[in-house]
Amino acid sequence: MSSTDAPHVPGDPTVRDEVRDAAAAGTTTLVRLWPDAAGAHWSVEVPSDLGAFAAGLGRPAADVASLAAATTYPGNGAAAVVHVNPVVWPSLTAFGKRAVVTHELVHAWMGPLPGVPHWLLEGLADTVAFTDASQARRSALLGSLGADARPVLPPSDVALDSASGEAAQGYALAWFLVDRLVAASSVQQVAALAARLDRESAADQDATLREGVRRLTGTTYAAWLSQARQALAARR
Ligand SMILES: [Zn+2]
Repeated sequence: MSSTDAPHVPGDPTVRDEVRDAAAAGTTTLVRLWPDAAGAHWSVEVPSDLGAFAAGLGRPAADVASLAAATTYPGNGAAAVVHVNPVVWPSLTAFGKRAVVTHELVHAWMGPLPGVPHWLLEGLADTVAFTDASQARRSALLGSLGADARPVLPPSDVALDSASGEAAQGYALAWFLVDRLVAASSVQQVAALAARLDRESAADQDATLREGVRRLTGTTYAAWLSQARQALAARR
């Protein structure tokens, strides 16, 4: 959809209205941070049950049962589709509903970018989703990191896999890192780095990431990670 169209949301009218409101709020946030997104096209679908949600993602129901939402890219110029899990949706808080949809709208706007490290994409989506979050909410998200004094930064793709059981921690770490990167630069600059990484060969990607972080933060990649680790340790 464009930012002015209502999403196509079949099924439960209450869920449909909530998803529509969340999509409108998410679009407003995204466009504020990223004016070009005003021209984005996407659709939002709320299937009738878990089976239909899984079918829409082309994945087994067991793998996606706890996923609140996910985005697919039909290709051939067709708009990205944000799929909302109708089973998980009612259990989310009002803030959670908005954050989930905003997160997916970032993915829909950026496109699939298969060559980019997951922590950068997921962290950027959560940074936009949490941009208006209160300090209490941000602290609560970091609180989900538990007592692990030396988490692996950046989190690996496995740590961000919804089937791993550790995904909540991985996502919180990705958000923590990218939020710091955005604070030192901007959402659009971090997104531009992601787009550049997607065009790189695997062999050149590491050097591009290091150079990109250095340019955005004014410090080396290693020093930036080290500072993030110290900031994580200091809040405990
Ligand atoms: Zn995501």
